Amino acid sequence: MTDTPLRTPTLLSLVAPVYDEELLIEEFVARAVAALADYDFELVLVDDGSSDRTPELLDRIAAADPRVRVIHLSRNFGHQAALTAGLEHAIGDVVAMIDADLQDPPELIPDMIAQWSQGSDVVYAVRQQREGETAFKLATASWFYKLFDKLAQVDLEPNSGDFRLLDRRALNALLAMTERSRFLRGMTVWIGFTQTAVSYQRDARHAGETKYTLRKMLRFSLDAIASFSHLPLQLATYVGILSAGVAFIAIPVVIGLRITDSYLPGFGSITIAILLLGGIQLIAIGVIGEYVGRIYDEVKHRPLYIVREELNHPSSSSRAAMVPATRAGLPARAPERVL
Ligand code: UDP
Ligand code: MG
Repeated sequence: MTDTPLRTPTLLSLVAPVYDEELLIEEFVARAVAALADYDFELVLVDDGSSDRTPELLDRIAAADPRVRVIHLSRNFGHQAALTAGLEHAIGDVVAMIDADLQDPPELIPDMIAQWSQGSDVVYAVRQQREGETAFKLATASWFYKLFDKLAQVDLEPNSGDFRLLDRRALNALLAMTERSRFLRGMTVWIGFTQTAVSYQRDARHAGETKYTLRKMLRFSLDAIASFSHLPLQLATYVGILSAGVAFIAIPVVIGLRITDSYLPGFGSITIAILLLGGIQLIAIGVIGEYVGRIYDEVKHRPLYIVREELNHPSSSSRAAMVPATRAGLPARAPERVL
């Protein structure tokens, strides 16, 4: 970017969810802090109920550096909830989210900020290559993005993860979406604003293993599709109309066969029809169940996450004076988007 920036960040928040990452958390913090050295920043690390040494490592890091804020959740609430916790606690006028496993390079953030300073409100990172992931994960991810693209009403860039940077205005819009089933990368597209992509190489995990089991991945995909599409529900209607249509056509055929006396007793075909329709009905009920379950979760309106402890809260540190300044004194907006 050679253009002169239209705005510069007052305070940058970098949010990362952390779950059982004792092997790499220190490395992550070191790289993130180094990458953001040119900015006034806060690093918001959300410990998603880790059961290894991660919490104590985080406490130690927070004690050594007041710019590192640590939020311990009371148990494991899942990646998207932990990320939301971090976004809600961040106070910066520019907020970036990143995975803590170093698959997303923190060194890309200055490039993302450069896009933001040119007037972009949402900058998302698109992975060019995905290193060190199993063929199974790559295949399922690619199916998922294709299916999501067909079903959902938002245009999600395939291969864009949760590595994104948002302007405060865009973040406030995102946080106004209070739904329980969260698919943050879809939600950041849904809010609109000016969106720009930055591409990067996705590295292999620095250490440790993926925290997404096949089950979690399946649940996550269902959440994503159910929160952005009603098509699975409508599909039952279409299949219903189709099979009812076939049945109606079959009535005169059967009568005709009866009259011409070429009617054959069709035990097999009847059984197949019953099983087929029964199966379709059960699937349709299952699909409805998926949505009803989510509606139930929404109406219970439970909190998305519970904070057990918070370290280096801005009002308790030397940054105290900056909090109202950051909130009130958001930088002057560029008059119009220039891209
Ligand atoms: N994570 C989390 N809670 C969870 C699972 C994962 O906070 O229940 C964090 C994890 O520590 C990492 C990020 O979310 O920083 C992405 O997880 P992971 O790398 O396991 O997912 P993948 O990259 O394999 O999709
Ligand atoms: Mg990962």
